[in-house]
Amino acid sequence: MKPDSNDTIAAISTPPGEGGIGIVRMSGPKAVQIAAKIFKQKNKSKITRAGSFTVRYGIVHNKLAHVDEVLLTVMLAPKTYTKEDVVEISCHGGIVPLRTTLRLCLENGARAANPGEFTKRAFLNGRIDLAQAEAVINIIRSKTDAALKCAVGQLEGRLSKMVNKLREKLIDILAGIEASLDYPEDGIPFISRSKLSVKLNEVSRDIEKLLKTSETGRIIREGLVTVLVGKPNAGKSSILNALLQEEKAIVTAIPGTTRDIVEDTINIHGIPVIIKDTAGIRHTKNEIEIIGVRKSRESIRQADLVLFVLDLSTQISKEDRIIAADIKDSKVIILGNKCDLKQKPALARIKKLVPQTPSPAFIKISAKEGKGIASLEKLIYRKFIKGELNISDTVMVTDIRHKNALLKAYTAMKKALRAIGASEEFIALDLRQALDALGEIVGETTTEDILDRVFSRFCVGK
Ligand code: GDP
Repeated sequence: MKPDSNDTIAAISTPPGEGGIGIVRMSGPKAVQIAAKIFKQKNKSKITRAGSFTVRYGIVHNKLAHVDEVLLTVMLAPKTYTKEDVVEISCHGGIVPLRTTLRLCLENGARAANPGEFTKRAFLNGRIDLAQAEAVINIIRSKTDAALKCAVGQLEGRLSKMVNKLREKLIDILAGIEASLDYPEDGIPFISRSKLSVKLNEVSRDIEKLLKTSETGRIIREGLVTVLVGKPNAGKSSILNALLQEEKAIVTAIPGTTRDIVEDTINIHGIPVIIKDTAGIRHTKNEIEIIGVRKSRESIRQADLVLFVLDLSTQISKEDRIIAADIKDSKVIILGNKCDLKQKPALARIKKLVPQTPSPAFIKISAKEGKGIASLEKLIYRKFIKGELNISDTVMVTDIRHKNALLKAYTAMKKALRAIGASEEFIALDLRQALDALGEIVGETTTEDILDRVFSRFCVGK
């Protein structure tokens, strides 16, 4: 699967809108030739003679008129992003100069690039593997320092190295088994079952270790999903606003205002924490509210952490108890809100409210006065980020695609282990499946279909 050797692609690589500069990028065998047709320098020197990684100052023109004053960078194959000739034209960052420059590239022989096609070429031309290609989009989309660090490690090939090591071990084991299967007459001894079991267990454990990082990986990349629940008027929207330090959710004194789920992300020590404000859970006959309540229950199931808001100025009610029962299987922090008013329920009753042992952490806050909000952030960090996530892991699985492939490999390894008492052929079959699954991560055994899915996540021009 190599790119067409005659195909040169072009795209605007910078985001639309106004900016200091904007870049039109071309990659392919005709990139320099096309650039030469639309670019001229005062001293008339030819860019077809330009050395690799050199920058020229000049004019993009359409033969009749000047389009823009630009800097043009020439990067020659094979040491480029795509391993092909690459030309980048840095125009002024406006829609018209950029679109006109791109149009000139297309009129002179380039083809409009598809999303992620530059990176896809880097992969197809063997400069990076698939996991590294995916790291590029993870870098672009990273929301925090921790996510960026993870993605950069992946781009440097840390995950790929680990996966390739596992593949090598499997290839070795398979080679031994297959030799004895293919040439039984040569009497190549089949590795002893006990030795085989040790080796398979070792690979299986390594896969399991990687899989275990995926929970932390997901949270680092997508965020810790936190949902605010509580009876209407407990102060959920006000708490969300206090956490976001902005007025995003609608705050009113009429119960049942938040019917849809409002969410935003805060950054706690480099980890994205998504805070969702749900409709209050209560018995209601209002159809729209019923949908809201159903959505709240759904988001509780999907949440990593539930923030249960109690109104300290009122006694614990039936509604509070219904919610408490709903969240008994979740990780919970109880927020005693409105601590600026007189506290009605006794602390002992609050602590016993959610049927969990030990009872969930409890913290008093006042969304109105901003009291306790910083302590809440600290508590989330201490208990649910530092306490539960292992961020110091050098290799972290952050992509769901990688996690699924690892799961497939793990299942196949378990099957192989179970087949140890049976025929070598079965073991070999399972090991080949595990090998293929690991190969999917780095793109060794990847179908066109998977590639399309991976690169469709990219933006045009990357
Ligand atoms: P929700 O229905 O749970 O989202 O509750 P809201 O955030 O809309 O708040 C309901 C009412 O309680 C509003 O009138 C808020 O101003 C008020 N409120 C929210 N938090 C506090 C607080 O900490 N102290 C006091 N005194 N009032 C609050």
